[in-house]
Amino acid sequence: MPATIREAIGDELYVSISQIKAYLLCPRQFELRYVRGVEPEFVPRALAFGIAFHAALAHHYIDLRDLHVAPTTEKLIETFRRAWALKLDGSVPVQGEDDEPKVDPLDLAAKMLGKFVENAKATEQDLVVDAVEQPFSVTLVDPDTGEVLEEKLVGAIDLVAHEGDLTIVVEHKSAAKKYGVDQLRYDLQPTAYQLAMHELGWSPIGLRYQIVTKTKSPQVQIENIVRDQQDEDDFLRVAFGVLKAIDAGVSYPVRGWQCRSCPYQTACAKKTS
Ligand code: SF4
Repeated sequence: MPATIREAIGDELYVSISQIKAYLLCPRQFELRYVRGVEPEFVPRALAFGIAFHAALAHHYIDLRDLHVAPTTEKLIETFRRAWALKLDGSVPVQGEDDEPKVDPLDLAAKMLGKFVENAKATEQDLVVDAVEQPFSVTLVDPDTGEVLEEKLVGAIDLVAHEGDLTIVVEHKSAAKKYGVDQLRYDLQPTAYQLAMHELGWSPIGLRYQIVTKTKSPQVQIENIVRDQQDEDDFLRVAFGVLKAIDAGVSYPVRGWQCRSCPYQTACAKKTS
C-alpha cells in the first residue's frame, strides 16, 4: 500500500471524495476553488478545528500501532495545540461564523479529547491498528456501461484496524452534534471507503463512524454502518455524473446554509459569467 496520496496517484488524473462532495454542495464554490484557483478569504474555524482534532486522534492511533501504548490526554492536547497554532499562523486567516458560540478552541479540544480517551480506554481493548491516514487510489468503473474513468478516486482513510477477523475502516468526525439517521445512512464518504477497500482486496470489512461532539459536555458516538452493492453503484453513478458535469463546465450557485461559512463569497458575488 502507498504511504502518501502523492505516491498513490503518481502522475494520474484524480478526483477526491471531498471534491465530489464539494461539487454537490455548490458547483460555483467548486469552480472558484478548483477550476479558477481563487484564494479563499479565510479558513472556516470548524474546518481548522477538525484538522487539528484529526491530528490528535491520528497521534493516538499511531502510538497504538507503533508503541502498543495509548498516549495520555495531555499529549493529545499538545498535538492539537500545535496543529491549531499552525492553522492560526497560516497565510489565510481562520474565521468563525458570526453566530458561532464563542468558546476557547483549546478548552473545547481538551474536553473532547478527555472524553475520547475515556471512551477509547473502555472500548479499544480488542482493537489492533493496521494503518492510520491510509491513502488509496482506485479505478472508477461505471456500473451501467462498464466505462472506465480516466480519473482515479483518491483519498485517505482515517483508520484501518481489525477486531478479530474483521477489518474495520473508521472515519473520525468532530461535529456540533451527534449524527442523525440520514447522515449516517447516506454520507458518500464511507461508501467510497468500502469501494476502495474492496478494490484493494481488503475484506470482509466493517465501516464505523467515531464522532466526538463539540457540545458543552462532549459525547463520543460510535456507529457501525452498512453499505451494500446498491450504495457502491450509486456512488459510482454520482462520481461519473459529477465528473461529466465538471468536464462540460457546468457551474451554478447553490445558496443555502453553506454560504455562511463559504470562503469564496466575494468572488461568488463578483462572478458574472
Ligand atoms: S457564497 Fe454560496 S452560492 Fe456562492 S460559492 Fe459560496 S456556497 Fe456557493
